[in-house]
Formats: sequence, C-alpha cells, structure tokens
Amino acid sequence: MAAKTKKFKTEVQHLLDLVVHSLYSNKDIFLRELIANAADAVDKARFEALSNQDIAAEWAVRLQVDKDAKTLTITDNGIGMTEEEVVKNIGTIAQSGTKAFMKAIEEQGDKAADIPELIGQFGVGFYSSFMVADKVELVTKRAGSDAPAIRWTSDGKSSYSIEEATKDTHGTEVKLYFNETAEAYLEDWKIKEIVKKYSDFIEYPIILPSITTNEDKTTTVEDVTINSQKAIWLRQASEITEEDHKSFFSHISHHGGEPLKHIQLAAEGTTEFKALLYIPEKVPFNMFMPETQKKGLQLYVRRVFITDECEQLIPDYLRFVKGVVDSSDLPLNVSREILQENPLLTKIQKNVVRKVLSELKKMQDKEPETYAKFFKEFGKVLKEGMHTDYANQEKLQKLAMYETMNGEAGKLISLAEYVQAMPEAQKDIYYISGDSREQLENSPLLEYFKSKSFDVVFMTDPIDEWVVQSMQQYDKKNLKPIGKGELDLDEESKKESEKVIKKATDKHKNLVAFLQSELDANVKEVRFSSRLTESACCLVADEHDAGAHMERIFKAMNQEMPVSKRILELNPSHPLVEALQGCYTADAKDPKLASYAGLLYDQALLTEGSQITDPLKFSRQVAELMVASLQKDSKK
Ligand code: ADP
Repeated sequence: MAAKTKKFKTEVQHLLDLVVHSLYSNKDIFLRELIANAADAVDKARFEALSNQDIAAEWAVRLQVDKDAKTLTITDNGIGMTEEEVVKNIGTIAQSGTKAFMKAIEEQGDKAADIPELIGQFGVGFYSSFMVADKVELVTKRAGSDAPAIRWTSDGKSSYSIEEATKDTHGTEVKLYFNETAEAYLEDWKIKEIVKKYSDFIEYPIILPSITTNEDKTTTVEDVTINSQKAIWLRQASEITEEDHKSFFSHISHHGGEPLKHIQLAAEGTTEFKALLYIPEKVPFNMFMPETQKKGLQLYVRRVFITDECEQLIPDYLRFVKGVVDSSDLPLNVSREILQENPLLTKIQKNVVRKVLSELKKMQDKEPETYAKFFKEFGKVLKEGMHTDYANQEKLQKLAMYETMNGEAGKLISLAEYVQAMPEAQKDIYYISGDSREQLENSPLLEYFKSKSFDVVFMTDPIDEWVVQSMQQYDKKNLKPIGKGELDLDEESKKESEKVIKKATDKHKNLVAFLQSELDANVKEVRFSSRLTESACCLVADEHDAGAHMERIFKAMNQEMPVSKRILELNPSHPLVEALQGCYTADAKDPKLASYAGLLYDQALLTEGSQITDPLKFSRQVAELMVASLQKDSKK
C-alpha cells in the first residue's frame, strides 16, 4: 500500500490549532493522556486474551527516550488498531465530543489555560501530543487479526498520512518528535515526576529504561518500573491520599474535574467485592447526552479488567457515580452476555445503591453545604429514582431538596425540614410546579398560603412533575398541588369561606353565567373561591386533570397531550367583581363586557406563566383601557 495523505476535517483542524496554541497551559498532561490510552488498549487486549490464546504478552507500557533525535516513544502491547480503526479513532474525533469541546472553549473565552483540563474531559486526548511535538508517528498492529500494521504520521496541521508498516507484535507505538519548547520531557526525572503524579495507579508496569555508565566506561541498560501499580481500590482507606483519589478519579471518569466525595466499599459474605466510587464535583458536559456517555461502573474480576461500562452495577438515576467494582466471585472469562442477567451483579448493585444512598444521607446530615452543592449538580438525576426505584423511594424522598416560597432564592430544604416548620393548623404538604422560581413567586395561587403563613414547595425541575405522580405522601402527609381542585381548608375556615362564596355566587349569578358563556371555549367553569386575597382571578386545574405545567412540558417535548379546560376562579372580595357587576346590571349587552371577560382570562394565563393566544388583541384591549382611564382622569 502506498502512503495516502488525508486531510483532517475542518473541525479537527480548528481543534488542533487551539491545542497547539494553548501556549501557557499545563503541557504535562500529554503524557497522562497517552499512557491512559496505552493502558486502556492493554486492558482491552487482556480481556480478549481470555478467549484468544494468540493474544499474549507481558503486559506493559514502555517509554523510550532518544535524546539525540529528541523523541519520546510510548509503546504498549495492547489491542492495537486496524487501518479502519486508525482512521476512525485518530483521523476524526467523535463528532459529539468535538462540538461540545469547541463550545466549552468558546464559553471560556480566551482563558486558554484551562484547555488541557478540557482535553481530558472531551475524549480528544491523543491530540494533546501536538502541544509538545511538531510531528507524531503512530505504528500499530491489531491483536488477533491478520490485518497489516499501519503507520500514521502527522504534523498536526492540516493532514495526516497513512501507510502499511512492519511490526511483529500487537500493540501501538506513539513517537513524539518534540518541538523546542518541550525538550524538558527528554529528562528522566521529568518523565518520572509526571508518571508519579498522574499514572501511578495504572495497573501495568510503566517501564523507563535506565542507563548507567560503568567504571570501565561501558553502559548498562536496565528496565525500571516507575509506577507503583497498586490497584487503588484494593488499598486500605488510610493508605490512599487525596492526591491519589484525584488522579484515579480523573483516570476513570475521563474528566478533568475533581471528586466531591469518595466511597469505599468492601463486601464480605455471600457476595464478595470491593468498590471505590466517586461522586464528581460537577456535572460532566455529557450528563444529558446519553449517547456520548460511558454508562455504568468499571468491572474487574480479581484485578483483571473486564469492562468499563458495566451498566448492571448501578441504576440509571445514579449514573453520575463513577468508579470501580472488583468482584471475587465472577469467573474471569465472563462474557458480556453473561453479564447481562447475572444475579451476582444484581446483588452487587443493591449493595452499591444502599451504600451510595447512605453516604449521601450522611453528607446531607453532617455536611449540609457539600450536600447542597451536590444536589444542585445532580439532584435532577437523583430524583428520577423516586419514580423508578420504588424500593428506595423513601430514602430518596428524604434526599430530595427543594426551594420553597418562604425560603430565599437558591436555598434548598428537604421535605423533613418543611414538615418540621409546618404550623399546627397545616396538615398537608403543598407544592406548586413551574419553570422557575421567578415565575412561581408571582403566582396568585400563593396568596392564600401567604395569608396563612403556610410554606409552599417550589417544584421547578421538569422531572418533578413526573416524580410527584408516584409520591402521594411523605411522612404520612399528603402532597397537594395548590393549583388543582378545590382548596381544602380547616373546618373553621371552611365554614367561613363557604358563607362568603355562597353569598358572592348568589349575588353575581348572572354575571358568572355570562362570563362562563363568553369563555366557554377555554374554561370549564367560572366560580368564586377563597384562594385569592389580592388578585382578581386565577386558573386552576380540575382535580384529575394534568395542570398547566404538565401541559407546557408536553408541548416543549412536541408531544400530543389532550389539553383540558380549566377552572377560572374569582376573588369575591376584589373590587373588579363589583365593578363588572355594575356594568352588567346597567347594560347586559354592553360590548365592553365581552372584551373584559377575555382580558380576565388572558390575565390569569399571564400570571401563571402560560402564553396567551392572541397577544395583539390583548395589547389593543389594554391600550383602550388606558385611554379610557386617562380621558376620565382629565375630565375630573
Ligand atoms: P479517548 O482516549 O478519550 O477516546 P483519544 O483522542 O485519546 O480519546 O483517543 C481516541 C481513540 O483512539 C481511543 O478511544 C482509542 O480507540 C484509540 N487509541 C488511542 N490510543 C490508542 C492506543 N495506544 N492503542 C489502541 N487504540 C488507541
């Protein structure tokens, strides 16, 4: 095969340009990325070797410096790549990764210093070699395949070349031709320092040959393993430093951030396994892009890597947890099919869930600030569990946090705290759902609760609306939406309010009937209620209807949802009611009345954050009202 030259996609070129020009940033990470790739490749080869005897080696990653040629070569005896794989993995970058990476960079503006961190997060690690090298040569041979070895060469500018090569053993060699700013990386001490810092826990020996000059001037070359190789999850908790956790976390999460919490778990008895889990500090960019995410935890069987996406180990709603499970009970040659429905994994998962939830509870009780930070990042995801993991619903209800009407913006409280603060007269837990605190704060539905000094839970995540469906009660108290059905009051207030409502209903019978017929297309019923103390009117859903927020969510997802008509409630003590009555009594055919009925309805829609159907008409009507009112003023 003759050498072929291929152009990088524009996006890749743009990316390379950014990487190369991130001049002042931490360039050391190129070695971390290349060693991580090498170790991943060895993981994969070792797994395939379990079922293919042709693949065998003394697993290792070797580093080789040539001071004269100013090169560093990173060699692994891992899985290697075919030509197709080279083009796919190295020549192009996963689309989603690149786009998200570019976006993150743009958002950072010119804070180029953070680019190396981003490189790790977005799975474009190989390209970081162009920060230090003006030419990179990769020679690779796929394990367990007859495909020829391939040489890939590039200067990281606009193109790369690819050709057949000779290589006897499987694996990959990456040779970096350092540019003049990177000559420090030719020094053993520098390489050792970086390896210690970032790659110490890598399970395979990272070998750097050491050359000593003997007395007789001959030289001896000796292989020296420069990492400690100890699987961190098998160590005693007291032996693991914060630094160890940080670097291990960044290794397994492919993510530059830091862990907020680590959780170590050693189960003995019927299922034996060890686990080291991390809750990240920040949501990774792809949390809500499931297709770009590695799912599940890493699974090892007696220190042998099996897979890095074992979904059976952790439920979806804990997908932010990253880490390793090492089982002593599974067979080494376990296939992916066997993993699919393995009762042992189900047991491990149960254990893992129990431990994670109890650690979160501990954090909530003992480190409320850390917990609040956690919840702001991952609360949305965690809350899914209330809907999907019935067995743990109670625990999850305790972990859920919300803003409330009486709390400051941004302050989250648990339902337990809410219940504790409830005044004697309050029996139920009240909530309202909507898009944001700002929108909910203005809702007229809150007026009654304010007047009673009852607090109201604000449910502002789209997921809340789903979750609350399967959560009728907390701590034996009913969860009641305040925008639905009749307002339920204590006995005394009830009598009082029934009296007021009856009086208003009798007095304004004709007016109400008129409004009802005017608004018939949109409104199921017009009625008086005690819900409002300041505003003139509001819309509520009938007991079993979905409610405005749910309808908006469906609309946003482009889903059909039967829109149910709602109830327009009037405030019997609002002067507007008397004024309308006056107008109606004077002339029931006054055209103003129909126009005001429409305005009333539009107002109610606007205050709850819904859209009105005809904004033009609305603004015309408001303008007319203003003119009329101003003319009246000037006549005075
Ligand atoms: P990431 O490792 O985050 O996926 P990289 O840009 O570092 O991103 O690498 C892209 C892909 O190239 C890897 O996912 C892997 O499939 C392949 N690759 C890189 N280095 C090696 C290697 N040493 N051996 C085999 N495959 C490799």
